[in-house]
Amino acid sequence: MNTATNDKDYSPPISEVPCPILLVEDNIINQKATLLLLEKIGLQADVVCNGMEALDAVKQRKFSLILMDCYMPMMDGFEATVAIREHEIEAGTYTPIIAVTALAMSGDRERCISAGMDDYISKPIDFKVFQAKLNYWLNTNLELQQQKTSRRPLRSHSHLMLVENSPVDLAELRNSYNNDEINELLQVFLKCARSTIAKIESQLRERNPVCVSKLAHELRAACLCVRHKQLSQLSLYLEMAGGQEDWLEAYETVRSMLLAVGEFDAFLNTNFAPGGRIKGQ
Ligand code: MN
Repeated sequence: MNTATNDKDYSPPISEVPCPILLVEDNIINQKATLLLLEKIGLQADVVCNGMEALDAVKQRKFSLILMDCYMPMMDGFEATVAIREHEIEAGTYTPIIAVTALAMSGDRERCISAGMDDYISKPIDFKVFQAKLNYWLNTNLELQQQKTSRRPLRSHSHLMLVENSPVDLAELRNSYNNDEINELLQVFLKCARSTIAKIESQLRERNPVCVSKLAHELRAACLCVRHKQLSQLSLYLEMAGGQEDWLEAYETVRSMLLAVGEFDAFLNTNFAPGGRIKGQ
């Protein structure tokens, strides 16, 4: 019938994004945190762990937008952007690139723009800011998929109780995630923190200052993502102690970290049921 005409005039519904997003991020917690936010607004994403893989991915298919971490092994976000832009000049394409940067590094923003990125967003990512940036660069109007993601709100008394006893800043996490998402994120964080600390302990036994500092830095990035201030502070101490080969201080710090992780585990067990629901609801 008049399918041809319809096809020609067809423009996708406003919240439909034709190609996936490419998420370039080496830290597992940050990957998880960003994927949860993308899922919330119904966006598909491909995930790669460094700039090299990002460049390969861009050569293979089209993406609506690239979320680019700045610091990664093999090839960082700045180098990757330069390489992607070079490839795009030849291919005659253009993909918006949003840098995802840690707050601490203020000079990074200028570096991002001069490398060829279009915009930047601070870590840890705030959902509202994220949504606004995506809407702008995807030239669309992405709405939170209410039906899929809305969950029963917390009862007010348990809300207060949780915030008071929480080792992570739950109030801040709730700006971006619902309870199920927070639970998922925190469970992944617990596993990740445990395995990173185990690696740190083995590098401590080897007296390897570079690896201890690097692992402590990695752990700190994960702590910042879930807003665990105490563990983030301890990671910073450990990073410094490792760098200075102050092994006594390093061991002491790891002991405190293990205690903090134990407390965090207990907190999760007390407040979150394994299925992802808040206990008592
Ligand atoms: Mn990174």
